[in-house]
Amino acid sequence: MITFIKVFAALRDMDMLPAYDNHFHMSPAGRNLAALKEFEAAGGTGITLVTLPYAEVPIREGADFARSYEITFRLAERARAETGLLVNVAVGPYPILLIGLAERYGLPQAESILMKGMDDAARAVAEGRAVALGEIGRPHFECSAEIWDASNRILLHGMELARDQSCPVIIHCESGTTETNRSLAALAKEVRLDPALVVKHSSPPFVTPAETYGVTPSLPASKTFIKTAFAKGTDRFLLETDFIDDPTKPGAIMAATTVPNKVKWMVASGTATPEQVVHICQDLPEQLYRR
Ligand SMILES: [Zn+2]
Repeated sequence: MITFIKVFAALRDMDMLPAYDNHFHMSPAGRNLAALKEFEAAGGTGITLVTLPYAEVPIREGADFARSYEITFRLAERARAETGLLVNVAVGPYPILLIGLAERYGLPQAESILMKGMDDAARAVAEGRAVALGEIGRPHFECSAEIWDASNRILLHGMELARDQSCPVIIHCESGTTETNRSLAALAKEVRLDPALVVKHSSPPFVTPAETYGVTPSLPASKTFIKTAFAKGTDRFLLETDFIDDPTKPGAIMAATTVPNKVKWMVASGTATPEQVVHICQDLPEQLYRR
């Protein structure tokens, strides 16, 4: 009877459950607010809005990053004005840009362009316009040793700035093995940044302490990943879509409504308790982004 009441209460409260998407992009040229309203209508309650290289502001010099972040801030303001969603903003120099910039200007100059982008992102955090640095990191594919080393120097600088602001870094990098988390935790340790503030974007279901090395995993919200993660006996992970908001690439990523739909499925299927959903979609984002 008690179980029945519990389940009934859970189902009744399902509409009130938080549903937080920890990696969401909006593009001025994309569906942006329309997609976000679909997310809210499906039961979404909050997002981490992560900056992207926008076609509107090509990056040619360091100061271009701050110009491109203005687009993210404008989109966040509109999102807050037109929805009831919690919008946490992350800005930072997208790591893949280093490669093209190095080809055009040489690696030393390319590195200093991204460093400037990092400094300006940290200033935005200090000013309260953003709450995290991201997505930053290194290429998710095979690259030269020079690009790899420069990427790690830029990332380390970002971690240093994040330590000073006690804000998270959202990491874009390779994903295949737990060695990635070990190396991210080692970098964080080098600059005394709490590894819990290192958020691994697009993480495989590596969720136990032996797999995360203290890093906070953010999992693509697939049923397989969610089930695998819970089977390891922990709810210390975030969920995300990496909604890319590019109408020319439909189906390239998860739909904007994925996280709220998966949250409903998690509770209805008994995969997660409402308390676990609150932990994943409310407590963890609050711990990370409330400043
Ligand atoms: Zn992304």
